[in-house]
Amino acid sequence: MARLIFLGPPGAGKGTQAAILAQLFGVPHISTGEILRTAVANETELGLKVKSYMDEGELVPDSLILDLVRERLKDQDAGSGWILDGFPRNVAQANFLDHLLTDIGQVYDYVVDLEVADDTIVDRLLHRGRKDDTETVIRHRLQVYREQTEPLIDFYRQREQLVAVNGDRNPESVATEIKHLIHA
Ligand code: AMP
Repeated sequence: MARLIFLGPPGAGKGTQAAILAQLFGVPHISTGEILRTAVANETELGLKVKSYMDEGELVPDSLILDLVRERLKDQDAGSGWILDGFPRNVAQANFLDHLLTDIGQVYDYVVDLEVADDTIVDRLLHRGRKDDTETVIRHRLQVYREQTEPLIDFYRQREQLVAVNGDRNPESVATEIKHLIHA
């Protein structure tokens, strides 16, 4: 049983670490960014609505994200645990998640904050080569992270369920430290 939330700037390695832990615990890795990219690729109604926000490095409006997360967490395969990657992304989403978890009778175990310096992030993302990874968009996504998502670190720190991990190392070392900190 594991319920974890990953925080950290774009390019911190959230996706990589979330995938490793999802495999370890046998629970779904739920990446809102991945769900949205699939919607864009399939040109669904949602995809058409979110594309321009994603291309510009803006957050997609909460109204388009919250229902999606509610439905995904209610799926059968998420009943015994999940690893959230990319959600919540602002205080409103974090409050929504609190209420949703109360509604469905679940609690998260830990929030993992992956810390990486800005220059490392830009360097990593420029080499990743995703469509929303041009330098201007990357810097904008970082700014959006600092303004909207970083306040969640204090939000969760107050509950003493936050573990901070230096993400500026190879993925195996980061994974080993996370497992140690969450007693896995
Ligand atoms: P990610 O793969 O998590 O970096 O997400 C890629 C893009 O998807 C972000 O830059 C946002 O435009 C959008 N996105 C992903 N998750 C969220 C979220 N929880 N709230 C709003 N927008 C999101």
